Amino acid sequence: MAGTAQPIGAENGVRRYQLFINGKFTDSRSGKTFESISPHDRSVVAVVAEGDKTDIDAAVSAARGAYEGVWSTTPPGERAKLLLKIADLLEANSAELGRLETLDMGMPMVMSSAMGAVSADVFRYWAGMATKIHGLTGEPMRPGDYLGYTLREPLGVVGGITPWNGPLIMAAWKTAPALACGNTVVLKPAEHTPMTSLELARLTAEAGLPEGVLNVVPGFGPTAGAALASHPGVDKIAFTGEYVTGRLIVQMSASNLKTVTLELGGKSPHIIFDDVDLEAAVATALFGLYMNSGQICSAGTRILVQEGLYDRFVERFVERSQQVKVGDPMDFATRMGPLVSEEQLGKVQRYVEIGKKEGARLRCGGGQPKDPTLARGFYHEPTVFTEVDNKMQIAQEEIFGPVASVLRFHDEDDAVRIGNDVIYGLAAGVQTKDLKRAHRLAKRLQAGTVWINTWHMIEPNSPFGGYKLSGYGRENGVAMVEHLTRLKQVWVDLNDFTMDLFA
Ligand code: ADP
Repeated sequence: MAGTAQPIGAENGVRRYQLFINGKFTDSRSGKTFESISPHDRSVVAVVAEGDKTDIDAAVSAARGAYEGVWSTTPPGERAKLLLKIADLLEANSAELGRLETLDMGMPMVMSSAMGAVSADVFRYWAGMATKIHGLTGEPMRPGDYLGYTLREPLGVVGGITPWNGPLIMAAWKTAPALACGNTVVLKPAEHTPMTSLELARLTAEAGLPEGVLNVVPGFGPTAGAALASHPGVDKIAFTGEYVTGRLIVQMSASNLKTVTLELGGKSPHIIFDDVDLEAAVATALFGLYMNSGQICSAGTRILVQEGLYDRFVERFVERSQQVKVGDPMDFATRMGPLVSEEQLGKVQRYVEIGKKEGARLRCGGGQPKDPTLARGFYHEPTVFTEVDNKMQIAQEEIFGPVASVLRFHDEDDAVRIGNDVIYGLAAGVQTKDLKRAHRLAKRLQAGTVWINTWHMIEPNSPFGGYKLSGYGRENGVAMVEHLTRLKQVWVDLNDFTMDLFA
C-alpha cells in the first residue's frame, strides 16, 4: 500500500518539508528544523525537518520491515512497473523539479530543467534491468552428478548519502538501481539541497511504491549521515562526496562490515594536443569546466595544452571565459549561476589567493561579478590561471568551483605523466584528431572515465566511478548490479546413491 504523501505547500514563499518515513511525511523526533537558503540572494526557500539518529533508526526499521514484508518478494516485473510509473511522474513534474533545484542549489535552469527527464531515464533503465537480474548454473569439476547454480539476491537495506551538486540526479542514482535489485532504501540528501529528494519521495508514493521501500531523511552529515553509515541494520552504503568523508564512511561501515561504494572527488586532466581545431577545443574545455559553476566532481579542471598550441589556446580560452553569462540561475539565458553556499564561495576565494601566492598567472576572473543584482549571492567569476605547475595546490586539490588551471606539456608521455600525477582518478579527457593516440591515452590514463573529444557524457548504462582516491565501485550500468546484490551458491545431489563416508 502506498503511504500518504502530505501535500507540500508554500507559506509566504517558504516551503516546508518533513521527513519521509514508512510512506508518510513526518516531523523529526526532536522537532528540530533547518533552513535551506537560495544561493542567489540568501533568502530562505525552505524550512526542513532535521533528522538525526532516532529518525534514522525509524527509517532503517521501516526499510527493513518493507524489505522483509513486501519488497524482497515483489516480483521483478512488478518492481519494473513501479519504477516506470515513477519515471513518468518525474518527467511530468520536470519543470517544477527544475525550478526547485535551481531555488535550492543555484543550478542554472538551462541545466536543472532537464534533470527530471534525465532522472526519469535512470528509472527507466533500471526498470528494464529489474527483470534481467539472475544467477548462473555450473557443472561440478569432479565426477558425480550434481547441479550447481547461483541465486543473485538483494542485499537488504541500502543507505544512500548524496552531495549537493546534483541533488535529484544523485537521488535517482542511489534509489533506482537499489530498488530494481530488490533492496529497500534510506536516503540522506545533502543538507544544502534536500528539496528535490523529498519531492522524489512524494512522487514514489504517488506511483504506489509500498510504504517503507524508500525513506528520505534530510539532516546533517555528522548526525544523520553518520547514524546511517554506522547503523548495524544497514547492509550497504552508496556514498558520493568528498574523499575525506568517504574515509570516515568506510571506518563507520566496519561496525557490521556493510559493503560500501564510494564516488569521490576529482582533479581531472583535460589533455589538448596541438592538432585540434582551436574553436572546438576551447568550447569543449569551457563545457568541461564551467558546467554547474565547476561544481561537478568530474569537471575538467586541469587543462593540459601542448606547447605548440598553448599561447593561442590560452588567449581564446580567456576571451571566451570572460564572455560566459553569469547571472540569476532562474534566467534560461544564464550559463553560470552562483556557488551553492557561502562556505563554497569562501573555499574558491581561498584557492584563488593560494594560486596567486604560488606564482600562477591569473588571466581573468578571480573575484565576484560586479553586477549589483548579484551582490547578495554566492557568485564567482569564471577564473583562469595559466603557467600552472602540476605541483601547485591549485593543480593538485579539488576546488569545486569555476577555476581553471592551465598547464603546458611537451609530448604524449609528458601528458600522461602530468595527467596521472594527482591523488584522484575520476575522469580524464583527450582532444586530438589522431585516433591511435587517443586510444593509447585512453589505456594509459588512470581514471574511471576517459572522454575523447567530448566531456560530461554519463549515461545510465555507462559505469561511472573512480581510480585511486576517487573511490571504488561503479554506479550505472550492469556493473552496478554486482554492488547491490550478493550471490548464493546452491548444490543439488542428483545421484541415485548417497555417499556414506562414515559407514
Ligand atoms: P561536500 O563538500 O560535497 O558537501 P561531503 O562529503 O561533506 O561533501 O558531503 C557529502 C554528503 O556526505 C552530504 O550528504 C553530507 O551530509 C554527508 N556527510 C558529511 N559528513 C558526514 C559524516 N561524517 N558521516 C556521514 N555523512 C556525512
